[in-house]
Amino acid sequence: MSYEVVIGLEVHAQLQTKTKLFCRCGTEFGLPPNTQTCPVCLGMPGSLPVINRTAVEMAIRTGLALHCNTLNDNRFARKNYFYPDLPKGYQISQYEAPICENGWMEIPSNGSTKRVRIRRAHLEEDAGKNLHDGGGTESRVDLNRAGTPLLEIVTEPDMKSPEEVDAYLKRLRDVLMYLEVCDGNMEQGSLRCEPNISLRPAGQATLGTKVELKNINSFRFVSDALQYEIARQTTVLKEGGKVNQETRLWDVDKEQTAVMRSKEEAHDYRYFPDPDLLPMNLDQEWIEELKSTVPELPGVRQKRFITEYQIPEYDAGVLTSSRPLADYFEACVSLFPNPKTVSNWVMGELLRELNASETSPELSPVSPQRLVNLLQLVENGTISLKVAREIFPELYGSGKDPQELIQEKGLSQISDEGALSKMIQDVIAQNPNQVAQYRSGKDAVLGFFVGQVMKASKGKANPALVNELLKKQLAE
Ligand SMILES: [Zn+2]
Repeated sequence: MSYEVVIGLEVHAQLQTKTKLFCRCGTEFGLPPNTQTCPVCLGMPGSLPVINRTAVEMAIRTGLALHCNTLNDNRFARKNYFYPDLPKGYQISQYEAPICENGWMEIPSNGSTKRVRIRRAHLEEDAGKNLHDGGGTESRVDLNRAGTPLLEIVTEPDMKSPEEVDAYLKRLRDVLMYLEVCDGNMEQGSLRCEPNISLRPAGQATLGTKVELKNINSFRFVSDALQYEIARQTTVLKEGGKVNQETRLWDVDKEQTAVMRSKEEAHDYRYFPDPDLLPMNLDQEWIEELKSTVPELPGVRQKRFITEYQIPEYDAGVLTSSRPLADYFEACVSLFPNPKTVSNWVMGELLRELNASETSPELSPVSPQRLVNLLQLVENGTISLKVAREIFPELYGSGKDPQELIQEKGLSQISDEGALSKMIQDVIAQNPNQVAQYRSGKDAVLGFFVGQVMKASKGKANPALVNELLKKQLAE
């Protein structure tokens, strides 16, 4: 019996607003505990929430990018549960009427593309953080994060493998970052992912019992946890057992999942409309206005790069993986219309330095203009490609102009015909046997002469010019 894997995803994206969802406290990460709090996010009696307009804009723009419908009369609900990091005893979320629903996103899959349906995207506030770092019996609570805005994006169970999940997550993160609504930082918890996974006998229409996975904070862990669950559930089913509907935690050290709790149902949360917040009546004009602020998104931009610049799909994928990198590439190509050459340099030398120094492309010490200056120096024969590659790290580190650095280091190629002709004359005079061989038809000997001239010039002769002059002078 073979089994089919069915995976759906819930992603919590922390929206990059300056202030929280229902109060004016800041959202900066890493500040001392409980310094970003007020009566509203502390859940004090008598305090009232006020919705953050920017968070609503970000949710709508994300919904538009994911081809969702925006619900004009979406509303907030209270999701009731008790936990020490939730001072009100309920989380303000959206239940029956989410702000966005029924969308889709295209992901690369098996050399082609596939649509993953988005069931809904809704706004909700984050909880605080319990700290169990005291070592003893004490735990502490930090409420700086309580009330920060999250957009929960839920897919239909449309993914069939950990690879598709990986492709979905990467594309979704790229989209959120293109929109500048989320910084995409998984380690800091700005993007959290909860896959649900079930298995069913191949060909069966009804879905199997699903297990939800929590506590996963990197792309690799998502993949590892899913692989583990596929193996575990397959074993259970093959042995004639039953998969329990439950929530399991991924244990990074043991590399396995363990039961956290049996799955709660929606009615456990006793959802009801939040009486402190009116339904949002979204103005259609406002939505239209926001539509115009949705940038060209990574998938579309990748396709355009392939057709417009005639570069390979792989290159286009790497270059459009972030908006600043794609902008950098296009800025270079507008100054130096040889896209494949630019692509090689951006993906190779530039990305290597950017990654090593953890710098975003828009802050690169080598600006698009400077990189193009370097490429022009190679093109006009001032320096060789080899020298250009060698000096790039120094160019990046020093922030100097390529021309200046090359002069300082005396790296210009010898492209002066007079000087090269003199060297060639000497080499010809010193090697009469090889000259005779060449003239009797052994063209391969030319390489020997090129080598000798390069040696005489200490590697600085312009190879193309040496070739040309050698052929001319040997023919005389
Ligand atoms: Zn507050």
